[in-house]
This record gives sequence, structure tokens and C-alpha cells, in this order.
Amino acid sequence: MLFYLLNSTVQLSDFSINTLPYMLNHEVNRMKKVKNIILLIGDGMGFSYTTGLRYFNHDSRLGLMNPTLFDQYFVGTQSTYSLDAKSNITDSAAAGTALATGYKTYNGALGLNIEKQTVPSILEYAKFRGKSTGLVGTSQINHATLAAFATHRESREKYNEIADDYLDERINGKHKIDVMLGGGTSYFSRNDRNLVEEFIKNGFGYVTNSIELLADRNEKLLGLFAPMELPKHIDRYSTTVPSLSQMTNAALKRLQQNQNGFFLLVEGSQIDWAGHDNDIVGAMSELKDFEAAFNVAIQFALNREDTIVVATADHSTGGMSIDRNGNYKWNPSVIRSIKSTPAVIAAELHKTKELSRITRHMHLSLHLEDLKAIQSTLEMEVEDTRQALIDIINHYSSTGWTTKGHTGEDVPIYAYGINRHKFSGRMENSDIARILFEMID
Ligand code: MG
Ligand code: ZN
Repeated sequence: MLFYLLNSTVQLSDFSINTLPYMLNHEVNRMKKVKNIILLIGDGMGFSYTTGLRYFNHDSRLGLMNPTLFDQYFVGTQSTYSLDAKSNITDSAAAGTALATGYKTYNGALGLNIEKQTVPSILEYAKFRGKSTGLVGTSQINHATLAAFATHRESREKYNEIADDYLDERINGKHKIDVMLGGGTSYFSRNDRNLVEEFIKNGFGYVTNSIELLADRNEKLLGLFAPMELPKHIDRYSTTVPSLSQMTNAALKRLQQNQNGFFLLVEGSQIDWAGHDNDIVGAMSELKDFEAAFNVAIQFALNREDTIVVATADHSTGGMSIDRNGNYKWNPSVIRSIKSTPAVIAAELHKTKELSRITRHMHLSLHLEDLKAIQSTLEMEVEDTRQALIDIINHYSSTGWTTKGHTGEDVPIYAYGINRHKFSGRMENSDIARILFEMID
């Protein structure tokens, strides 16, 4: 029997062996055991995004393209649909739960199966096995994908309660998560409860910028670098907000000190958010950030016999397409010529009311009609300006979109290290967790 203490006093749940998605007493010796697991989730990172990255890296030249880092580790595909009664397209909570626990569920659920029963996550099981655990992302760290690995809630909207769970819930009397890095100060430092102070009292270090992150020496660490989500990578040039790869490095430095190994989740949280906005500049920015974090994970696992690295997506977003309107020419050089997200450019234009400021951010020769279109929005809402910029960028880069929501196509799986072949072929999103449960030492 596995006993999970969900808080320090009340024993809420008693997961029997049978509630694990994988039956631990079967086939237990058939797979090589793994000490360390690094799972990376690019939220919304469907095939058109990772293919787009290959074009983007190649610029707009013709001819043979080099494989991306992802391409070099491609092993299979997974189907993302949830078991929602009303929808056959997943949200990030249901997909995160499937990837975390091995159970597909309804949209909005965190760490619960379709019957709303608590099911253990791979992070919790790793902690139960004496390993260290970490959550790293670019959204607030209590957002759906990350939360699916560390809480059990009927709704992803319970942001304050989820943040409370990160501190309050224990496994074998130990804190569930050892390293948390991302955004979300506004949920952790609240009027009704100051979780930051409580984490510090519980022996955690606390950092709020990349300088403090580098200097910190605590083994257990809370790092919150923004009130909500972090700025997109392309907009971080003048800030001390760390990159996803810097946060991944900082987490690995700490987690690897545990002789029993670790489980680390790294989320490229805002690839999806750029997709919802139909913002190809933001999408490529977040994909590059995620690619660099994947590289950090690969570098850690290189020449080791004890680590598996898996990178995948929870679903695709926006129906992003490489080219549109029969142009037969996608132009990533247009995307590369833009140095800030449309949201940041729109905010600056609105603040200053100076259209000429646009040339600081967009090294792209715009037609007079484009400038007029942008100018006309400066008397409207910032959102109108942002949308005008997005439309212009999609037009010149020839990027297509079909929706502001998620889409249901299968997504890629990339893997490196021991047992990587176990993820080859086509599988369900929930199978990824089941395989990880099976191989964890
Ligand atoms: Mg997410
Ligand atoms: Zn989404």
C-alpha cells in the first residue's frame, strides 16, 4: 500500500497499488529502471510549430533545411483528446492530467480521473520513492499544466487553493515539490495568506530575479519572477527575468544533489498563449526558449545511463499553418525582423501615440496602407492596435490560423536517454505517464 499524506495532519487518501495507472507488481523487471526523469511540455506545441521552427532556423532561404534539436530526438506521436462529456478537444488541465497520472479526464480537471477520484501523479510517485521534484514554467506556476502534476482539484480555476496545496500537501511528511520556478507572485503573496513567508519558514530559498537565482545556494527553492506570467522571451531583453533554460539549469543543479534521483517538469507555457493570440512572433519566441531548455535537459542526460528526457505537447493551438492563401512561400525572415511581441509594440505605440516608434521593433518596410491601418487604431483600444499588428505580421509572413482555440491533431514525442524507444510509435497522451510510472526506479 502507498500512503499519501495530503497535508501534515490528515491522511486524506490511501492509494492502493491498484490506483496507480501501471500495475507495479506486473512486468516490473522487464524495463530498465530510471533514476532521473525530465519531462518537458511545450503547451500548444503541435507539429506545425516544431516544423515552423525548422523553417524559422533556416530563415527564408530555399534548399535543404537542417534538422532542429527536436528533430534529432523524434520518436513518436500521441493523441491528445480528453474524455469530456461535451468536448472532444482537450484543454491543458485534462491533457496535463493525462500526462501526469496516466488517466484521461474531463476538461478543467487537475489530478482527478473521469470519476473525480484522486489519482497519483508521476511527480508524487517520484517523491514517494524518495526523489526530489521540480516544477519550472513561464506561466504562473499554479497554472493548469504544472498544477496537474501536483494537485487534485475539480477545477483549474482554483488558483489560490492550488498555490496553497504546493506548500500544504505532503508525501511521507515531506514537501511535495522541492523547486518551483516561474511566475505567480500575486497568488503566493496575498492578503489572506503569505505563502512566500511560509515557504521561507519551511526552509525554502526565495528569489525574484535572475541575479538572485544565480547567487542562491538553497537546495529547496521558490522563484517567482512576475506577478502572473513571465514576459515572453523576446520581450525579456531589458529585464532580469530568467530564461526557461536558466530556470531549468537552476532546477537541475539542486535536484541532482539527491542520490535517489529526481523528477523535473519543464513547461514552455506560453507557446499556447501565442497560439491563442494567433501571434507567430510570440510563438517562435516561446519555441526558441523551449528549444534551449530542451537542450539543457539533453546536455544533462548525455553520457548518463540513468536519465530519460521526454519532450512533448499537450495539444496544438490556433490551427497554425505554414503558409496561407496559396502563396507557396512562408516568410520566417519577416518574423525574425520583428524584435518584440505585438502586445509590447502596441502598448508602446499607445502610450507615446508616436507611430514612428514602430521602427524600433519592426525592421520591416511597411506599406503606407499598413501604417495608416495601425495609425487609425491609436485612438481605439490597445487591443485593436495589437490585432492590427498581428494581422500585418501574419500577412507578410504568410502565416495561417483557423481558430483562437485548441485543435485536436496528434502531437510529437521527442525522447533521449535510457528507454527512449518505449515512446516510439503512436500512443495516447496517458500512455506517456504509464510508461514513466513503469520505468521509475
Ligand atoms: Mg500550460
Ligand atoms: Zn490553451
